[in-house]
Amino acid sequence: MKKLTVIIMSSVLLAACSQQPTTGDFQYEVDRFADVQILRYKVNNFENLTLNQKLLVYYLSQAAIEGRDILYDQNHKHNLTIRKMLEAVYVNYKGDRNSKDFEAMTTYLKQVWMGNGIHHHYSEDKFTPLYSEAFLKEAVLSVDSALLPLANGEDVNSFMARVFPVIFDPALYPKRTNQEDGVDLILTSANNFYEGVTQAEVEAFYKQMAHPGDPRPVSYGLNSKVVKIDGKVQELKWKVGGMYSDEIIRIVGWLHKAVEVAENDIQKKVIGSLIDYYETGDLATYDKYSILWLQDVNSQVDFVNGFTETYTDPLGMKATWESIVNFKDVEATKRTTLISDNAQWFEDNSPTDKQFKKEEVRGVTAKVITAAMLGGDCYPATPIGINLPNSNWIRAEHGSKSVTIENITEAYSKASAGSGFMEEFMWSETEIERAKSYGSLTDNLHTDLHECLGHGSGKLLPGVSPDALKAYGSPIEEARADLFGLYYMADPKMVELGLLPDKDAYKAQYYSYLMNGLMTQLTRIQPGKNIEQAHMRNRQLIASWVYEKGKSEKVVELRKKEGKTYVVVNNYEKLRGLFGDLLREIQRIKSTGDLETAKQLVETYAVKVNQDIHKEVLDRYAKLNIAPYRGFVNPVYTLVKDNSGVVTDVTVSYDENYVEQHLRYSGM
Ligand code: ZN
Repeated sequence: MKKLTVIIMSSVLLAACSQQPTTGDFQYEVDRFADVQILRYKVNNFENLTLNQKLLVYYLSQAAIEGRDILYDQNHKHNLTIRKMLEAVYVNYKGDRNSKDFEAMTTYLKQVWMGNGIHHHYSEDKFTPLYSEAFLKEAVLSVDSALLPLANGEDVNSFMARVFPVIFDPALYPKRTNQEDGVDLILTSANNFYEGVTQAEVEAFYKQMAHPGDPRPVSYGLNSKVVKIDGKVQELKWKVGGMYSDEIIRIVGWLHKAVEVAENDIQKKVIGSLIDYYETGDLATYDKYSILWLQDVNSQVDFVNGFTETYTDPLGMKATWESIVNFKDVEATKRTTLISDNAQWFEDNSPTDKQFKKEEVRGVTAKVITAAMLGGDCYPATPIGINLPNSNWIRAEHGSKSVTIENITEAYSKASAGSGFMEEFMWSETEIERAKSYGSLTDNLHTDLHECLGHGSGKLLPGVSPDALKAYGSPIEEARADLFGLYYMADPKMVELGLLPDKDAYKAQYYSYLMNGLMTQLTRIQPGKNIEQAHMRNRQLIASWVYEKGKSEKVVELRKKEGKTYVVVNNYEKLRGLFGDLLREIQRIKSTGDLETAKQLVETYAVKVNQDIHKEVLDRYAKLNIAPYRGFVNPVYTLVKDNSGVVTDVTVSYDENYVEQHLRYSGM
């Protein structure tokens, strides 16, 4: 199971509960289109970094932007062509820019930027163009053909014949990543990790590559595309001299500059080993880099840069390129340090069976960070927490680094202030008041517990493969981490450690979690569709399971008031007990690799949607006029030089809008 990492999107919606009245003079909202709101985030205390730290952020940020086109291509093979064509039309079209068609095409282009391609970043479905094919044809023909991304020797007509069906034919490439049970997941997924091979061929290919019983396996397949050449299945590596060579060479160029201003020797080694990996594509070098990266705990500036998360590959092997540049929020990190200092206590006292516990929890480092730049698969949509590396043996032997990205959460919650969301969906004033007082606090704490402890807890029994749960591994792993957090949120230890102010605060999180899992997260699902995304599956799994199991005692109810359905929690203590029961069972499933039960749990509780509630939630939500998805624009960093050209400072500014930023990145 590799998808240990994290995108706890719950807080995207839950953030609506942590309302804060003032936004100051910082404009959080930048743009709005389709189902998306674009925000900016504030890089608090950037000005307090030293000049070298600022330069380090600057160079790593440049590296973070350079991988953007890699991700477009990974997501789907026609993405870059379509983006470049639409950008050329957007910039150069001389016709009526206020026409419905032009506006619809602009929205579509904004969606492409948000999804890093023609599929929705979350639902995985292909975007539906609301402009006509005739309009696009006229628009493309009106643009100088030298500005279009024509293939070698191709004329504009054959270009359009090749590209237009990808946009306009709904039957072509309908889904980026298909998770549906019982079909060939590779042939039915539109992403670009495999070409000309079947799922069976890929599975056979990696089976012969793996060494059963190897205690320290590399992450097979992580940085390559699988193709068939002359009838032979093989990998094309993403590295200098391989696929994406131009982009990777530019990334490496910035990394070399970063080494020169690194904070200490260990950080220099970290960046140096990443350069080695990009130059060789060697996965053992990647593991070496990951271990060094874990050891770098003293630097204030830190980063993720590389082929990291495997969510987009239905087989969970191929990683999309991503980057986050960040620096430690020293004050807030005291909270996560307290949690990791007590990691062993939490492991020992969890409700899981003793044989599945770690005797020694090690290396749970945790910190709160301020994001300074988002790139690749962390942009425009971004996680609020990260827990890396994903390699199971490295996590077991060296631990993991866990971060909470507080300035992103801050932007979410500030932008949500006054949306009316809580008033619409919460049962009574009690829940609303609790959410206002404790929502933000318990949300952050749940993220910390999920990241610092949840993913790192427990162990596999000897001989159990980390991939034993196959496609069900991801929601089960997320459920495990969430449940660990939920269970402990209500523990007296929280108040004892000073992490929560009183014994009732956790109820804010319990209520929001159930409301989200049973109802409000359905705002992200199209009518009639099932739930596919791992984190959403996990949340519905937990919420529906405790709802069902507590039904006879009415622990949690769905109650009607004036024709509207509400979640009502009648017994918070029993609810905690149910979270504990499910955690115990899910840890057993994970530790023993019980695929059958994992499948049954996920298929019973996590996938299917209650159609009546779904419709009701969508109707009520629509009236609130809140965008269900959010993305970000990055700040702009500028080098300040003196008369002799020496850099004296780096400044940060926030005046670039969504369109300007993407056109600038595309022109790089
Ligand atoms: Zn997670």
